[in-house]
Amino acid sequence: MRIGYGEDTHRLTPGRKLILAGVEIPFHLGLLGHSDADLLTHAVMDALLGAAGLPDIGCQFPDNDPAYAGIASMLLLERTIALIKEAGFRPVNVDATIVAQAPKLIPHREAMINSLQGLLGCPVNVKATTPEGLGPEGNLECITARAVCLLECV
Ligand code: MG
Repeated sequence: MRIGYGEDTHRLTPGRKLILAGVEIPFHLGLLGHSDADLLTHAVMDALLGAAGLPDIGCQFPDNDPAYAGIASMLLLERTIALIKEAGFRPVNVDATIVAQAPKLIPHREAMINSLQGLLGCPVNVKATTPEGLGPEGNLECITARAVCLLECV
C-alpha cells in the first residue's frame, strides 16, 4: 500500500469555464489555466503520482507545452492512471476536499464523484468546504483542492 497527496490552486476569473472533475459548473467566474484548469482533477493526479513515486503533473504535462493548451484534464487523468498502472499500482481509494467560497458545490458532488470513479475504477469521495470569507479562496480570487489516495501493488 502507498499513500499519496496532491494539491492545486487556480485563479478565478471572468470569461472562463468552471470545470471540476470534468463537470461544468454554472458560475459567473471560471478557472484560469493552460489546460481547462480543472484543479480537482489536478490534485487527484498529483496524489496518484505522489503515491507511485513519480514526478508531479508539472513534469508529466508541462504548462508551456502547446500540446496541453485547453486540454480536458480528465484526458490527463486517464494518462496518469496509465502511468500508475505501468509503475505496477492500482488505485484503492481517493478522498478530496475543495476549498471554495462559492459556488455551492454540494449539488454537483455526485456528478464529480461519478466522473472520477468512471476513470479510476475505485471509490472516490469529494467534499467541499467554505473558508468563511478568509484568504484568497474566501475573497473569490481562487479555488483550491486537496486530495489523498491509496494505491496497492498489482
Ligand atoms: Mg493545476
